[in-house]
Amino acid sequence: MPELPEVETVMRGLQNLIPTLDVIEEVKLSQKQLRFPYPKKFAKSLEGFAVEKLERRSKYLQFVGRDRVLLNHLGMTGNWREAPELSPEEHDHVLIRFKSGLSLVYNDVRRFGYFDFLKRSELADSRWFQHLGPEPLPAENLDVGAVVETMKSRKAAIKTVIMDAKVLVGVGNIYASEALFRAGIRPQRPANKISRERLRVLVESAQQVLGEAIESGGSTIKNFKDSGGSSGYFQTRLQVYGRSGEPCVTCSSELKSEMLMGRNTFWCPKCQS
Ligand SMILES: [Zn+2]
Repeated sequence: MPELPEVETVMRGLQNLIPTLDVIEEVKLSQKQLRFPYPKKFAKSLEGFAVEKLERRSKYLQFVGRDRVLLNHLGMTGNWREAPELSPEEHDHVLIRFKSGLSLVYNDVRRFGYFDFLKRSELADSRWFQHLGPEPLPAENLDVGAVVETMKSRKAAIKTVIMDAKVLVGVGNIYASEALFRAGIRPQRPANKISRERLRVLVESAQQVLGEAIESGGSTIKNFKDSGGSSGYFQTRLQVYGRSGEPCVTCSSELKSEMLMGRNTFWCPKCQS
């Protein structure tokens, strides 16, 4: 499933293709439904829509215009590529042709992705965004102290808390395990029992892990369509995730794993407390 770094990489790929304002001339849809129905008259309403910039919020791509936003969630297998037409056998679902001649195709094998087209003023209170907490990146924009206070008010296991999008968006399962290892915090520890100093280190570790994943994605993925379905490019740098039974990179102790709130969780029994 695309996590925040992968969505950021897709967004940057699209930014390169749409460097300046471009107007949508034509939209075509496949006959298949995505996870949620398209808005009414979706294709027609997008004609003439001027895309001024590309942005990401949580795991949503945003084609931002003056008053409206075209929103796209990649679901589990969504991705974009340049192509002149929809190809049904390739699981293509949306074609967007711009005035510049650029033609983009949204492809989604499992069809868990979806679209919306709404007013910018309605975005924050929309059903997509209303439950979202702050963005971890860019790091300088985050009020770390406020996130620490939110965490301090929770009794649940810290790993569950840092993965809660109301606390901080975009910290998926892999990145939560890695950030906890870097911060030396055991995933099962109740959030309210951890000092503010240690929570601060954890938030900053999460920012670092996500930032590094984006950098490696940006530098190793030549064609942004590759980033939609897999997160394999960051795996080589994982220190605990998926390494149960292997030696800790720091102390050589055997790494542990267990299911925590239904999610596979990895940690070092010696380095994390
Ligand atoms: Zn260790």
